[in-house]
Amino acid sequence: MDTKHPWVILFDIDGTLLTVDRSFNRPLLRGILNDLEIDYPNMESDPFSGRTDHDILFSFLANHGYSPELYKKIKSTYLERIESTILPEHVFRQPFVDEAINYFEQLGSCIGLLTGNYPTAATAKLRAAKIDYSFSFGAFGEFHKDRNELPFLAMDKVKELFDFEPNPSRFVIIGDTPRDVECAKKAGMKSVALTTGKFTKEELGKGTPDIILDDLSKPEKWFPEVSN
Ligand SMILES: [Mg+2]
Repeated sequence: MDTKHPWVILFDIDGTLLTVDRSFNRPLLRGILNDLEIDYPNMESDPFSGRTDHDILFSFLANHGYSPELYKKIKSTYLERIESTILPEHVFRQPFVDEAINYFEQLGSCIGLLTGNYPTAATAKLRAAKIDYSFSFGAFGEFHKDRNELPFLAMDKVKELFDFEPNPSRFVIIGDTPRDVECAKKAGMKSVALTTGKFTKEELGKGTPDIILDDLSKPEKWFPEVSN
């Protein structure tokens, strides 16, 4: 088996490529909970970092017996509303995104997404952030509560799309939370942790990522270290 296939680079979205303003996101969700008469008082204080959309929305149904019908409704309402209301002013585009993507493109890497977002939400956020790169594929948090499933989903997609057998040690997950680091490690993939989200170097370091960076700049300096 040829284990030296091109590097597969998987970018997380929130906190990594962009950051959605909390003053947009939380009121959007509160409006949905109110309109669907979902009783979930803790929404504003719950941490969302690194969790899948499926997990987050499902957790709001704690007082409603985790009703599958209600889950369908909250999911479709969320997707309709984020698509129709998110604007560039609601989203901060993280710096050096183009620099990193260009570098990996020139390297001949396969560049995809590994994100807890539903695909529709991912597209809407990327569009608002004016990140118009066309990622080859995505492993999304649409049907999984557990982020640790996503790297395996990514390997399945790679198998479908490219003519090589995926070798996890040639995959790199770039993300901003301990959950990104953990899911990479559990799948035998490399992990690049960024402090551009809510977590400090110390917090990210506990999961022993291959490298911790303050931003995505100068990939030609740090990637050789990671890919060694
Ligand atoms: Mg993130």
